[in-house]
Amino acid sequence: MPEGDTVWRTARALDRALAGHRLTETDFRVPSLAAVDLSGGLVRQTVSRGKHLLTHIDHDDHFWTLHTHLKMEGAWQIYTAGQKWRRPTHEARVVLTAGPHIAVGFALGMVELVPRADEHRIVGHLGPDLLGPDWDEQEAVRRLLSDPRRPLRDALLDQRNLAGIGNMYAAELLFISGVHPDTAVGETKDLARLVKRAHLMLEANKDRPVQATTGNLRNGERLWVYRRDRQPCRRCQTPVRVELIGEPGLERASYWCPSCQS
Ligand SMILES: [Zn+2]
Repeated sequence: MPEGDTVWRTARALDRALAGHRLTETDFRVPSLAAVDLSGGLVRQTVSRGKHLLTHIDHDDHFWTLHTHLKMEGAWQIYTAGQKWRRPTHEARVVLTAGPHIAVGFALGMVELVPRADEHRIVGHLGPDLLGPDWDEQEAVRRLLSDPRRPLRDALLDQRNLAGIGNMYAAELLFISGVHPDTAVGETKDLARLVKRAHLMLEANKDRPVQATTGNLRNGERLWVYRRDRQPCRRCQTPVRVELIGEPGLERASYWCPSCQS
């Protein structure tokens, strides 16, 4: 699942390709928008809010927000005319052509068009955005502490507390902070420091295509525990543990070092 920094970078790429251009062709390949044609519309900008992508399009006196979400497998990719797509055509959900660029949204988990004035209905519930202009560390801590008995891992993944952390950063953050994933929020030592680290972690990764939390960008050495089950902990050599948590069908894998995180 893409993390907040990936979504942030996607917003930047869409913005660079489309902002300020008029759409010459639009193709929405989702049933609810099959009849929509926004060609002639002016793309104002694309921004990310947590893991949500918001593309502002002005069309015939209507101010629209195209809301997309990458969910599990989605991606936006930018092409020029005639270039071969890197993913199968049948995965395309949205195709926006403007100037020399074609932006293709593949396997998007969410595609909807809403009046821009209603944008708050999409993102109004989100906690402070780790990569947003309005990042607010104290507010994130306050929201986390609103349910002090909740396991920290779950609270960090809840986008209403703070927006942008996915399964990978949650695991890495808990390792670096030496906190067991099941620790209750209210019993976490120095929660503010952990939240500050989350912010720094996403900031450090937002401009590069590979994500690393160890400081080492080499293949296979970028992460502390995420997807490293049964491999030795980089600090203490204890095998990293993995456990599936959450409701059936919606399980996530939780990774931790039983020795470093107690
Ligand atoms: Zn360890």
